[in-house]
Amino acid sequence: MSINKRQPFVAGNWKMNGSLDLVKDFNEKLAGFSTNTEVVICAPATLTHAFNQNGFSVGAQNVSHLDNGAHTGELSVGMLKEAGCGYVIVGHSERREDQGESNALVALKAKKCIENDLVPIICVGESLEIREAGEVESFVGQQLKAITDILSIEELAKTVIAYEPIWAIGTGKTASPAQAQQVHEFIRGYFSKIDAELAEGLRLLYGGSVKPDNARTLFAQQDVDGGLIGGASLKAEDFISICQAAN
Ligand code: PEP
Repeated sequence: MSINKRQPFVAGNWKMNGSLDLVKDFNEKLAGFSTNTEVVICAPATLTHAFNQNGFSVGAQNVSHLDNGAHTGELSVGMLKEAGCGYVIVGHSERREDQGESNALVALKAKKCIENDLVPIICVGESLEIREAGEVESFVGQQLKAITDILSIEELAKTVIAYEPIWAIGTGKTASPAQAQQVHEFIRGYFSKIDAELAEGLRLLYGGSVKPDNARTLFAQQDVDGGLIGGASLKAEDFISICQAAN
């Protein structure tokens, strides 16, 4: 799996949705889908084996930071790879909230992915409370710091970062293109202080109520290289139209 410099990237996050019937529908509708955009569907781990990956790739939504062993209910990097995954979402805000995943744990998961040739799609983003307190950059900066503390520049270059303001996820309240660009610019700037070439090549996705009718203006922002799509990734026609908007 090779990652081109700033090739547009769109990932769907099916969350705890989907079925073998939906996989079949996507297999048929995305068959041979040809676009300049790297397209990934992050489905429940019980479904990933069933995708034909014809014109797109497949990812999971979580992974253990541990190796195989006595960890009931967890899935290891090796298991996900056997199930056809080349990518994993790590640190989604729903897991940070529901499972109490810390910045440090998210960073360990990202590192485990890189060490095992899986691309982590690392999610960061603030709540409305933090935005209203004017603390977006310090909050997102802390989330990034946990990752940059333990990943080398070479490892960081193999990640994809998704900025997902929590107040925009599943709410229909999309960040404005200017709001998205402002935080993406901050994130790229954060990485450029570590290494300019790293920052230039890193794919930064926006996530939060992206739909076919707002995708193009969001993706047109200078530092927005694509999207992480929740609700709209469950309908093949909408997902395809969002992928086309990233070209
Ligand atoms: C998400 O869960 O990653 C997401 C962006 O969801 P939605 O597109 O539904 O807001």
